[in-house]
Amino acid sequence: MSEIDIFVFLYMDIFNFLLASLEVFIMEERVFNFSAGPSMLPLPVLQRAADELVVYPGAGMSVMEMSHRSPAYEAIIGEAETLLRKLMNIPENYKVLFLQGGASTQFAAVPLNLIGKTGKADYIVSGQFSGKAFKEAQKMGYDVKCVATSKEDNFTYIPEVTRDAFRPDASYVHICFNNTIYGTKYNYIPDTGDIPLVADMSSCIISEPVDVSKFGVIYAGAQKNMAPAGMTLVIVREDLLEYADPKMPTMLEWKTMAENGSMYNTPPCYTIYMAKLVYEWILSLGGLDVMKKMNEEKAALLYDYLDNQDYYIAPVKPQCRSLMNVTFVTGDAELDKKFASEAGKAGLKNLKGHRSVGGMRASIYNAMPKAGVEALIEFMKKFAAENPKA
Ligand SMILES: *Cc1c(COP(=O)(O)O)cnc(C)c1O
Repeated sequence: MSEIDIFVFLYMDIFNFLLASLEVFIMEERVFNFSAGPSMLPLPVLQRAADELVVYPGAGMSVMEMSHRSPAYEAIIGEAETLLRKLMNIPENYKVLFLQGGASTQFAAVPLNLIGKTGKADYIVSGQFSGKAFKEAQKMGYDVKCVATSKEDNFTYIPEVTRDAFRPDASYVHICFNNTIYGTKYNYIPDTGDIPLVADMSSCIISEPVDVSKFGVIYAGAQKNMAPAGMTLVIVREDLLEYADPKMPTMLEWKTMAENGSMYNTPPCYTIYMAKLVYEWILSLGGLDVMKKMNEEKAALLYDYLDNQDYYIAPVKPQCRSLMNVTFVTGDAELDKKFASEAGKAGLKNLKGHRSVGGMRASIYNAMPKAGVEALIEFMKKFAAENPKA
């Protein structure tokens, strides 16, 4: 061996060692992140994205650098749609749109696209986001009616609504399927008869199977359960693309976006790519039936613990409990604060409840491993034992 060979050999060894340490370092640094959104992404997805970050195979550049009109990117967005259609079993007569602006932009886009049918719309207000959606339509001067709310009970349950609650000539009925802030979820799909049902599914999308054909429109921000922030999914039945207010901003018009394959302008390219990796990951595990089983198992661990102790209070009516966002309080605001702070130090991050409700909230989306929920329960036991109530 020449001196140079030995040098290269040594150098490679040191290099590999550093690389391995870096990987261990990255793994050790990852905490259990209970944030409501943006939230955890599946580790295999992050690793795959890291592998393809600098050079996307065959493209010679990063996905972030690609023209959205390039064949490589067209394949990515096409694949994202194909995989989502498979995952959610989306019928042929529905369009899939990957848009920008967050779910909050859809609060305005929904009435602008749909209310032209009859000029009226009905809303069920079961939490903060459905309240915002209702107010946005109201602000635009439309004839909108709140047909049911659980506000008087601090949104601890989902109103049970039958068909006669809706105005027969409403253009649509709007609901929020999973209430991220309060931790409630519909355990039924409201029967609206012929009136299209529009659902904000931002915090429960692809957490379990849903019958898409029961909805006129489903929309969801990506950053809870699908991808990083920046993309909003809209799934819309084709016949509902005909009612848009002609004066509405083009960027909010679903029909224009559908006719242009979500590429009327530059789409949120990288976020769509990340969503594609997430869809692949779920399909590789067995699809939404398997996801649902895993999510039910995680949620059951936490709710079973909550139901069998008397230190923490879970305010939500048991039949309306969310699989994704689990809320609880100690009943003492100071203890709640201490809980979130100490949990954070123990590697259980972002357990503080939403600023409008206080207490604690554990968001346990698809990417939260069971081990994270188990660690949380262990911490809850320890905290209860060490912090007796006065
Ligand atoms: C987070 C969230 C929103 C708001 O989403 P943005 O993308 O921030 O606009 C709306 N609805 C629900 C149910 C949410 O969880």
